[in-house]
Amino acid sequence: MGYDEFYRLSVEEPERFWGEQARLIHWETPPQQILDATKLPFRQWFVGGTTNLCYNAVDRHLAERGEQLALVAISTETGVTEEISYRVLYREVNRFAGILKGLGVGRGDRVVIYMPNMAEAVYAMLACARIGAIHSVVFGGFAAHNLALRIDDAEPKLLICADAGMRGGKVIPYKPLVDAALAEAKAPPPHVLIVSRGLDKDMQRVAGRDVDYARLRAEHMNDEVPVAWLESNEPSYLLYTSGTTGKPKGIQRDVGGYAVAMAMSTRLVFDIGPGQVMFSTSDVGWAVGHSYNVYGPLIVGATSLLYEGLPTNPDPGIWWRLCEKYRVRTMFSSPTGIRLLKKQDVSWLKKADLSSLKWLFLAGEPLDEPTAHWITDGLGVPVIDNYWQTETGWPVLTLMPGLELKPVKWGSPGLPAPGYRMKVINEATGEEAAAGEKGVLVMVPPLPPGCLTTVWRDDDRYVNSYFSHFRELLYSSLDWAIRDADGYTNILGRTDDVINVAGHRLGTREIEESVATYSAVAEAAVIGMKDELKGQVPVVFATLKQGAAASSEEAARGMQQAVTEQLGPIARPARIYVVNALPKTRSGKLLRRSLQALVQHTDPGDLSTLDDPASLDEVRKALERGPDLGS
Ligand code: ATP
Ligand code: MG
Repeated sequence: MGYDEFYRLSVEEPERFWGEQARLIHWETPPQQILDATKLPFRQWFVGGTTNLCYNAVDRHLAERGEQLALVAISTETGVTEEISYRVLYREVNRFAGILKGLGVGRGDRVVIYMPNMAEAVYAMLACARIGAIHSVVFGGFAAHNLALRIDDAEPKLLICADAGMRGGKVIPYKPLVDAALAEAKAPPPHVLIVSRGLDKDMQRVAGRDVDYARLRAEHMNDEVPVAWLESNEPSYLLYTSGTTGKPKGIQRDVGGYAVAMAMSTRLVFDIGPGQVMFSTSDVGWAVGHSYNVYGPLIVGATSLLYEGLPTNPDPGIWWRLCEKYRVRTMFSSPTGIRLLKKQDVSWLKKADLSSLKWLFLAGEPLDEPTAHWITDGLGVPVIDNYWQTETGWPVLTLMPGLELKPVKWGSPGLPAPGYRMKVINEATGEEAAAGEKGVLVMVPPLPPGCLTTVWRDDDRYVNSYFSHFRELLYSSLDWAIRDADGYTNILGRTDDVINVAGHRLGTREIEESVATYSAVAEAAVIGMKDELKGQVPVVFATLKQGAAASSEEAARGMQQAVTEQLGPIARPARIYVVNALPKTRSGKLLRRSLQALVQHTDPGDLSTLDDPASLDEVRKALERGPDLGS
C-alpha cells in the first residue's frame, strides 16, 4: 500500500486502521474498543486493552534478539561508550525497577528524572514504565527554579539525578541545583536517588533523603520485577513543553496509544525495523529523545544511539564517524544542530564512510533552504524535514520513506502523517484556506494515538490552550502554514511571530529565510521594532559562518539586499546587528521574545528556558555598540 491509500484509510476508517496497527505491539489483554470519541476533545484509544511500554521495548525482544545491541550510550564528554544488549538492558531495568519499588514507588506515582544522555537515564525511564510509575524527565542542567516548578507540578515520589553533566569538557554539577530546587519546591519528594559518575568530587549528600544508586544496585542485582499491565489510557509519562511561548505545559501521554504510534512511526516514517540502527542526537529530556532515542527504536527491536556531547567535539566529524562505526541507517537531528556544523568546513561531512546512512530527519524548527541544501549536498542522502510538537509525540507532517518516499519539496515538512486530519484555515473567518493561501494549521479531533491525552491535572488548560481558538472544535498550537495543491504544507512560524509594517503582515520567519540566503550568514533572528511611521519595522540579528570573508558591515549590506530583492522594500530590515550568538531555548529554538524585550526595553517574560545567558549579553553589547547597518 502506498502513502495515499494508507493515509486515506487512517482518516476515513480510523478504527479499522488503528485496530490493525495495534497488532504491532504486545497486548496482555486485547482492546475492547479501538476508539472512544464521545467526550471530545478528550478521546481514548484501545479502551480496555492492557499493555506495558517496558515489556514492549525490552522483554518482548529477549527470545529473538537478546544479544543484539539495544542501546549504545556514547559520551564524548566523559570518553565512555557503553554497548548494551537487550539482555543487559533487561537486567539493568529489572535492577532499577527493584530499587524504585524498594524506595516505595508504585503504580501511578510520579518520578522526576534529571539526568543527561546516559544509559541510566534510559534504565530509569523503562523501570518506571515497567512498574506503572509516571516518569517526568526534566532536561539535565535546567536551572533550579525550572526544576522546582516542574517538581511542584508533578509532585513526585522520587527524584533521580546524576551527580553532574558535562558540556564542552566542563563539569556542571547537578546536585547543588537539585538541592536548591528541593529547597524551593513546595512538594519535594522524600528521596533523591543519585547516579554518580564521580564527576563531582565535592558532592554533598543529605542524610536520610539522598540515596546512592551504585549501592542500591548491588542490593538489587538479582531482582526480577514483574511487569504492571496498565490499561491503555493510564498515564505513562509527563513531559513539559519547551516554553518558547510561555509557561511550560505538562503534557500527559497514555500507554497503549503511544506504544502503537511508536511502533508504526518508527517503521514507516523513520524506516527503522528490527536489527537496524537509529541515531537521534536529541536529549532524553525532549520529546524526540523520549520517542526516538528510547521508546520507538526499542519497541521495534532496533539499536538506538544515545549521544552526550557537542556536535563539534572533539571535532565536527564526530557524528559521521559514529554513523560509520555503528552502521547507522537513520539519523535524526535538528536544524540548529546542522547550522552549528554549517559554521564549519563542509569537508567534515565527507571524511566518514556513510554508505549505511539512508536518511537524515530534522525537526524542531523551520528548516531553511540554504541549510537544507548544504546538508543534503554534503551528505548525499535525502533530508526529511518533519514537523511536530511535544504535544503530539511523533511527526504530524513528514514524508514516510518506510512506506513510500514521496518527493522532497524544499521548505516543506511534507504531508500529514497517518491519523492526522490537518487543515489550514483563515484565522479570522475560520474558513479553509485555498491552496497557496496562508492560514493557521489546525487538526480536526480526535487526535491520533500517541498525542497528548490532557495537560497534567489540568483538563481546562488542555481545552483552553489547544481547542479554544476557533468556533469549531479544532486543535491548534498556532503555527502559520501554507498548503500547496499537492497537499504539501510549509510552516511559516508561529502566529505570534508576525510583524506589521505599514499595514503589511510579515512573518519574521520569511524574513529570516531570506536573510539566510546571503552566503556568509549562519543563522538569523528577526523581530519587529516599534516605528512611529510604519507601526513596526524588521530588525535583524545574525551570526556569521566561521571564517566568513565578509566584514560585519559588508555582510549586513548583503543581507539587506537579499531581503529587499526577495521580499520587496516593505520587508527591508531597518537595522542589522551581527552578533556571535543568538538567544535560544535549551532545546535550540530561537527565543525571539527575549530579543524583542531587549530592543524595546520591555518585560521579556519567563526566560528560565534560555540556554545561555551570555547570548543575551552579546545582544546587549551589540545594541550599545549600534547596528552594523541602519541607525
Ligand atoms: P511552548 O509550547 O512551551 O511554547 P514549543 O512550542 O517551542 O514550546 P515544542 O513542542 O518543543 O515546544 O515545539 C513545537 C513547535 O516547534 C511547533 O509548534 C513549531 O512551532 C516548531 N516546529 C517543530 N518542528 C518544526 C518544523 N519541522 N518546521 C517548522 N517548525 C517546527
Ligand atoms: Mg508549543
